[in-house]
Amino acid sequence: MIPKDHPRYKSLVTREMLGNAAKKGIVAMEGLTAHGRGEAFDYLLGERTTDSARLAERTAAALLRTARHPVISVNGNTAALAAREIADLQKASGALVEVNLFHRTEERVRLLEGVLRDGGADVFSGPAERLLPLSHDRAFCRREGMYTADVILVPLEDGDRAEALVGMGKTVIAIDLNPLSRTARKATLTVVDELTRALPEITQACRELAPDECSRLVASLDNHYLLQEAIREMTTRLSHVLD
Ligand code: ATP
Ligand code: MG
Repeated sequence: MIPKDHPRYKSLVTREMLGNAAKKGIVAMEGLTAHGRGEAFDYLLGERTTDSARLAERTAAALLRTARHPVISVNGNTAALAAREIADLQKASGALVEVNLFHRTEERVRLLEGVLRDGGADVFSGPAERLLPLSHDRAFCRREGMYTADVILVPLEDGDRAEALVGMGKTVIAIDLNPLSRTARKATLTVVDELTRALPEITQACRELAPDECSRLVASLDNHYLLQEAIREMTTRLSHVLD
């Protein structure tokens, strides 16, 4: 039992939930260490959505809303942490939801699709082919799904796949607490915020944005600025944290 008054209650509950999801095979063991790195960067941010992250989230919504064929790519950590939030974003944005895994087995793909459906998502499933220019199993996807996507949201992504997707001409939106990662630097737009805070913000913005504001946000997208701002927030906080 984790006591409710524990100062790290939310973090401990999330870790316990991810541990249980790993035992069921939903989250990869390696996914647990990836979560730990995310938590470390969230400490530096002060575990809050910064102004620049909010701008990135509104821009992400604008890209999804104006896309021809938007797709949300889901891995194990994302399904375990945010199946309901993914379903809500799908409803607000009209995006396809498709599972894509590094540690891929057919059984694990089906397990994750079940988790997403339980959360209310309409999952795009069926046989996948090796279509992305990658030497590992994240190359598998569906021709009518992420292969033909123009805008693709990749929460908690690997840098090499983000780079490959950009190389295919896609607009890639990453959600990654580490502004220094290859993913963060290769993506078209990086949301430096925690996944379960970022997704509801993007969903809300999808519901609110007027078409002219969408165009303005897309036209003024500057990922270098957004990453610099995230790093500035972290260094400012670090230099005052013991004041
Ligand atoms: P890259 O290849 O992009 O340099 P990596 O392969 O080393 O990065 P991964 O091990 O794939 O990175 O980890 C995924 C990333 O997701 C990490 O950078 C981590 O900070 C981030 N992350 C983990 N959990 C969360 C979360 N809940 N919300 C947002 N970001 C997260
Ligand atoms: Mg990686």
